[in-house]
Amino acid sequence: MKKAAELWATMRDRYSTPEEHLSALEEHLQPKTRLQPPVVADIELSAIEGDPRMFFHVRRERDPALVEAKRREANANNGRMECEVCGFTTQAIFPSLEGEVCEIHHRLPLASSSDAVETRLEDLAVLCANCHRAIHRTDSLMSVEDFRARFYCGPTGIIER
Ligand SMILES: [Zn+2]
Ligand SMILES: [Zn+2]
Repeated sequence: MKKAAELWATMRDRYSTPEEHLSALEEHLQPKTRLQPPVVADIELSAIEGDPRMFFHVRRERDPALVEAKRREANANNGRMECEVCGFTTQAIFPSLEGEVCEIHHRLPLASSSDAVETRLEDLAVLCANCHRAIHRTDSLMSVEDFRARFYCGPTGIIER
């Protein structure tokens, strides 16, 4: 086995910049040890790979004006945003955390890729990040109500029957 100093010398000969070296190393990492993309990117990526309509769906969910309007409505209704599947609220689970981690989900898959389709506030749902990610794994995007009935079985995986 080569000594570390010898190995490093080979590396320096082969790679001219640290970035080059790093990306070469990454090639050899096992897939599970690679950094995973953040949740939103994951949802968007699977949307792109699947139904192209879902791509526009996810893009739409990130429309800042719409998201802000839904946040204001949810806050006015019960003072907080509550996940419509599991009941998660940021305030209950992370009491000293500032800000909101719930996300806005579009209930209806868009009929077409047209951006002209009007979105009403009632078309949007509040979901926590877990439930949001999970519902996007369902085929042809289940409704929030169906998803809850079919898959949800208690907070943080504790089955209560
Ligand atoms: Zn949830
Ligand atoms: Zn969504």
